[in-house]
Amino acid sequence: MPEPPAPVAYLLDLDGTLYAGGAAVPGAPETLARLRHRGVPFRLVTNTTSRSRAMLVERLRGYGFAVEPEEIFTATLAGAAFAREAGIRTVAPYLPAPALEDLSPLELVGGSSRVGGAPSEGGRPEAVILGDLGETWNYALLQEAFDYVMGGAAIIALSRDRYWQRGGRLALDAGPFVAALEYATGKAATVAGKPSPAFYAAALAGLGVSGPAAAAMVGDDLWSDVEGAQRAGLQGWLVRTGKFREETLRDSGITPDRVLSSVAELPA
Ligand SMILES: [Mg+2]
Repeated sequence: MPEPPAPVAYLLDLDGTLYAGGAAVPGAPETLARLRHRGVPFRLVTNTTSRSRAMLVERLRGYGFAVEPEEIFTATLAGAAFAREAGIRTVAPYLPAPALEDLSPLELVGGSSRVGGAPSEGGRPEAVILGDLGETWNYALLQEAFDYVMGGAAIIALSRDRYWQRGGRLALDAGPFVAALEYATGKAATVAGKPSPAFYAAALAGLGVSGPAAAAMVGDDLWSDVEGAQRAGLQGWLVRTGKFREETLRDSGITPDRVLSSVAELPA
């Protein structure tokens, strides 16, 4: 296969790509510094919904990355923008509390907005917003989201990622819970994060590239990072870090434009 043209801009995934297992991927901070030094435009794009953008900046700086908040675009911010543009004002959030500040100025009812599991107050939500609640998911929360959707609320999925690399094993991400709610209600979710083409378009806006083909998405998720980027017209580059598994790549039917041993191999 011929080498694809060299990208002039990069979108870089966070978890499993820039960092993994509580530390920077070796060489990743230097790679980011090199891109910045050479004036190569980039954005950090993540479906992580466990933290706000401000907390992600803090975490990245703690790992040795020099980053500014405006260089990070998250599924939570994309979901909030989608809701606002759809005229939705009240939502029930199902994502960890530390990320809820990024849903401002939406009004929050139910879900993880309830302090200490207090009964839900306020009006009925026009949408439920599903992120990765991890081990906080339980029957009552799913039942509540189900009630809201059966009552007319839309489903906004911040991602439908299948799993992520957590410690030594693959752990369930938001996708399985989104699928459960879709199955029960017969309603389809709108995906706000990767691999939504709108997410990729928003991430590329302001980077000054002529079109999506001039940019490469670099990540460890075959579907959201590689296939999703390719469908949005970008190059999809896979890294052999994070959740990467050789047999998953082989069986996926997905052909990344490039496969790197890690983000440190980025040609910059
Ligand atoms: Mg990842």
